[in-house]
Amino acid sequence: MKYDPKKLAEYFKKNWKDAECSICKGTSWSTSQNIFELREYNGGALPTDDLISLAPVIPITCKTCSQVVFISAVGSEILQVKKEDKDDKNKKD
Ligand SMILES: [Zn+2]
Repeated sequence: MKYDPKKLAEYFKKNWKDAECSICKGTSWSTSQNIFELREYNGGALPTDDLISLAPVIPITCKTCSQVVFISAVGSEILQVKKEDKDDKNKKD
């Protein structure tokens, strides 16, 4: 899923203060244009409807050593989660 790159630029301006890579101390980063999801490990099987825990993230990669840092798409407000979506996920049949 693509996101509005202006929102990531706002996030960087506010929070990414000359961040150094924790491995190589590099300061050159590349960003993905897409939001990815981290899915809760479920023993190698796909999660069932009642066991879905997802974390939408934007990967930021160090251009020197390739370490990947994840930014929470929700916490950074790059991804707006609608209230109905949250309510639907909390519903139990
Ligand atoms: Zn690095």
